[in-house]
Amino acid sequence: MTKSKVFFADRDAQVWYNMLDKLEHVFMELGLTEAIKPGYKVMIKTHFGQFGNTNYLRPVYVRKLVDLVRAAGGIPFVTESCGLGYGGGGAYGGRTTAPEYLAMAALNGFTEGTVGAPLIMVDGYWGTDIVDVEVEGTDHIKSVDVAAAVFDSDLIIVLTHAKGHGLSGLGGSLKNIGIGLVGKRGKAAMHFVGPAKVDMEKCIGPECSKCLKVCPVGCISMSDKAEIDTDRCILCGHCQSVCNNAAEAKAINLGWRPTHEQSPRFVENALGVLKSIGSEKFYFINMAIDISDKCDCWNVGAALLVHDIGIFGSKDPLAVDQACLDAINEAHPNPDSMVSALEVGDCKFAAAHDHKDPETGDRLQLAEIQFAHAKKLGIGSREYELVTLTKEKPGKK
Ligand code: SF4
Ligand code: SF4
Repeated sequence: MTKSKVFFADRDAQVWYNMLDKLEHVFMELGLTEAIKPGYKVMIKTHFGQFGNTNYLRPVYVRKLVDLVRAAGGIPFVTESCGLGYGGGGAYGGRTTAPEYLAMAALNGFTEGTVGAPLIMVDGYWGTDIVDVEVEGTDHIKSVDVAAAVFDSDLIIVLTHAKGHGLSGLGGSLKNIGIGLVGKRGKAAMHFVGPAKVDMEKCIGPECSKCLKVCPVGCISMSDKAEIDTDRCILCGHCQSVCNNAAEAKAINLGWRPTHEQSPRFVENALGVLKSIGSEKFYFINMAIDISDKCDCWNVGAALLVHDIGIFGSKDPLAVDQACLDAINEAHPNPDSMVSALEVGDCKFAAAHDHKDPETGDRLQLAEIQFAHAKKLGIGSREYELVTLTKEKPGKK
């Protein structure tokens, strides 16, 4: 396969070439100024971060892209999707509904005022505003529920904080679209085995009824105990989340899918997202800064594993993630970090997560599982040509 071009600007920021200048440089090299036609609706997909996390991308990077899109004649809007019903904080466990997540986004500094464009929850109030896209050649998912607003976008810039993710090794561009641009059912397809079950012994019954109020598809009924219509259930996890808070009843269990089975599923989701409006309309930018082992959906900014690397940009989501991971693995581990004993070149995320293969007991290489599946599905190339961007100091001869 031919090599995909990946543009790279390092983290060695200077007064005359700071990180925002570098982001603009990557934007220009990607050809976005020419690609954005007057009146184009341009989605900027990012992640607003869980409250309590302090490693998520600063809003100013989003603002920079918004200004660049507008200067190119486009109409920018900034998006994120609703989370599943689990996590820390909020009425349902985190970033579960549009208002819940937008309130959290504001706490983290993302508002229309700060980023300069509307903040849109791409999959609606409950995270169920989706359009089914059939995919072929996949092992698990045959129909991807792509977030509805994707279909009204003329061009999508996927701005990703590159860091670890406990279910995928690297949380990069593929994860940002394979989990972040699908609705609840798509997220559930990788997280939960299902079906959702009510433990009749533990269920409190009608005087509780909390689960009924939060089911976005209304598939829970109540007689003596709660009952779930599993044919209609989308495994969103809302009921499980509130049931865990209902006097500690813990009567609902969705069955967490084993870790090693999850990456291939969200890669298949990513295939559906790319197919929805055509992969040529997507542009990927990975910011490899503030790199810990944890995703930004954790309510903690965990200690950093390596120094900041820089900004990667490509039309190819697999190539940009591969380049990013390679650079992170080639970096010296931070001396006080949990991966300090690793050799340069070892996968820091695999060591930090330390998930074990259930059959062999060997350490799982989740990024490798993710990338190998993406390659098999033809999503992109693992071979890349790294084009390093630089700028001469003004006045230098
Ligand atoms: S939230 Fe849990 S305990 Fe309460 S009614 Fe639903 S299943 Fe029963
Ligand atoms: S029953 Fe299914 S769809 Fe309804 S809240 Fe529970 S997991 Fe979500």
